[in-house]
Amino acid sequence: MKLQWTRLSVRFVVPLALVLALCAYVVVPLLDNLTLRWFVRDLDIRSRMLASTLEEPLLDHVTLKSRMRINQLFSKAIEDERLYALAFCDRNGNRLYATSTYPASLGCGEQNAASGGTDKSLVKLPRGPVHVARSTLSREGEAIGDLILVHDMSFIERRSADTRKYAIGFFILLGIVISMITVAVAQLSWRGWINGVRGMLKGELLPPSQSRPPPELSPLVGDLRALLHEYHRERQSHHDGAQAWTPERLRDLLRGELAGDEVIVVSNREPYSHRQTADGIEVSRPASGLVTAVEAVMRACSGTWIAHGSGNADREVVDERDCVPVPPGRPEYTLRRVWLSKEEEQGYYYGFANEGLWPLCHIAHVRPVFRSSDWEQYVKVNRRFADAVVAEARTDDPVVLVQDYHFALLPRMVREALPRATIITFWHIPWPNPESFGICPWREEILEGMLGSTILGFHTPFHRKNFLETVDRYLETRIESEASTVTHGGKLTQVEHYPISIAWPEASDVSSENRNECRLNIRKALAVPSSHLLGIGVDRLDYTKGIVERFQAIERMLELNPAMVGKFTFVQIAAPTRSSLEEYQNFEARVRALALRINQRFSEGNYVPIILKTEHHDQYALNRYYRAADVCMVTSLHDGMNLVAKEFIASRYDEKGVLLLSQFTGAARELHEALIVNPYHIEQSAEALYRALTMPEAEQRERMCSMRLLIKDFNVYRWAGHMLLDAARLRKRERVMQRIDLHHRAPALRRVV
Ligand code: UDP
Repeated sequence: MKLQWTRLSVRFVVPLALVLALCAYVVVPLLDNLTLRWFVRDLDIRSRMLASTLEEPLLDHVTLKSRMRINQLFSKAIEDERLYALAFCDRNGNRLYATSTYPASLGCGEQNAASGGTDKSLVKLPRGPVHVARSTLSREGEAIGDLILVHDMSFIERRSADTRKYAIGFFILLGIVISMITVAVAQLSWRGWINGVRGMLKGELLPPSQSRPPPELSPLVGDLRALLHEYHRERQSHHDGAQAWTPERLRDLLRGELAGDEVIVVSNREPYSHRQTADGIEVSRPASGLVTAVEAVMRACSGTWIAHGSGNADREVVDERDCVPVPPGRPEYTLRRVWLSKEEEQGYYYGFANEGLWPLCHIAHVRPVFRSSDWEQYVKVNRRFADAVVAEARTDDPVVLVQDYHFALLPRMVREALPRATIITFWHIPWPNPESFGICPWREEILEGMLGSTILGFHTPFHRKNFLETVDRYLETRIESEASTVTHGGKLTQVEHYPISIAWPEASDVSSENRNECRLNIRKALAVPSSHLLGIGVDRLDYTKGIVERFQAIERMLELNPAMVGKFTFVQIAAPTRSSLEEYQNFEARVRALALRINQRFSEGNYVPIILKTEHHDQYALNRYYRAADVCMVTSLHDGMNLVAKEFIASRYDEKGVLLLSQFTGAARELHEALIVNPYHIEQSAEALYRALTMPEAEQRERMCSMRLLIKDFNVYRWAGHMLLDAARLRKRERVMQRIDLHHRAPALRRVV
């Protein structure tokens, strides 16, 4: 209310003040000047006329030297109220005759000789301003003398004051009228605008045929809606922060919010794989945050996990329905395996998913390859997994968790078979801008497939926004930015961001070595002195991870800081991945060649700056490296999240060590205390590396503490919990709507009966 008044007063006072200032500083001086000019010109003319009238009789009297007659003539003349005084001077400038009113200081009016100019004809006397005009009187061509005419100007001042009064009065009135109009117009348009924006945000005011606001307002409306949505999410997350997310809380959530609901997970990679070894069949569990989080969900609800059976002994342990209870030894849920032929795996996994979608979504300057044959396999395998979901579903409304870019088409396929299912799809890799995505020959099919989901999750708001823009560009949909929903074919999809994270490690997960032992043992194993500075990089050997750029930065840092040569070593753990693809083989060769060149350049005795370990390491081994390192380098050219960055921080119980993090990772949006770099800028990364290696311990601790607090709270259980909470909310809403629907239809049904 107060704000409203202030706004109104400002709108009234400002135009009024402007109009008055205009009047005082421009209009009034201009009017004064103009009226003065008019009057002076008037008096000049008048003086000339008077002079010519007086000339004849005056010269007669002057010739006769008749002072009396001249006085009479002058007295008669100055009876005119404006003519104040008269004088006659001879040619030598001697004043011969003058009225008693003639000011002595005027002499013979020499200073007004020119009398043409206004300034010159005006004289300020103590009694007030006068107009002085001098006219030369002649007889038969001979100049006899000058007549000086002095006009009183005080009447002009009086008239000027009157004019000024009227002008000011007029302008005050004008100012008030303009101010009132301004207030009225602003009030009306503000209300109209606010109502308009409100309406548009709510989707009102739009004619049914028009699903979007006017184009000029679209960006504004979009931004406002997105802001409101963000604000709402932030508030939710604030409330949420009061209670830590743990596996127990996730389980409680499932039992409370999704009690009795069936949960089915679909992912390409299986949570357990069986391999034939010399000692018999062994079970291995991939070290991945995803498996940890999703497994917590599965254990709590005894669901079914559908995945590609890729282990060479997988077939040997499944039952007739291709299912195996897991975890081995203490089963809590079912793993249903889907078998893929070599041809299917090649087309769907290596071809379309990893040569097409992977480079398409990661902008890392590797051309995506799209082959129709790969696409056919991708469609076929998605269908096979979708069929498996439908076959495994015991109810018509299961909760289906679909993981990643391998299954873009599956949500729609499942939706068609199970319309009441709640399908949560999480896209673990980035989503590019609409132009980049547009090069995919099957872009519409992919988008339509994904929009079969009830909830579609990305790591960051940026990827979510890119997705919404892509849908907007290529499909006929209705997008509600405020609610972050897309309606396509009458079906609504909630598009959200859920930043994935890691499970906060239990003390039992990590090595029993203390930090110093870990430091010493790792250095001993690497055959470097105990005081040696150590850097670590942990990645799959993938071209998106910026390993080449990382090595170049290390080389530059050594070039710029020769004192570091012999004192710093970088261990790169590069787990082989997709090695059957040519792009990956070439990349591995490049990485090896570069490491070799840099090592040759800086090696001294046994010392080499880069140790490249191209093999998979388990979490235990990685954890030891993380804890022994002084700096961890994550230089991805593009990365959905990057869990290595979070694992490094979680492992640092000692609160030391520095994280150097690419700005192009999802993690960089959360870990602001890392040294954020552009991996393409080699100099910048080199400087950041040197800064990390020489960072005082107090600063390391401060940065690390802050990042640890964040990851502890924003862990993987929170990631899964938030998606499931949103799903539970939507399911409740759906059920309420169904009940309302039934209730409305019931009378009609009764009538039919
Ligand atoms: N990882 C592993 N062993 C290795 C290399 C990597 O277990 O030898 C794990 C690493 O700990 C992390 C995951 O693989 O959990 C890599 O995840 P990230 O998000 O960093 O990248 P992605 O491979 O998913 O692109």
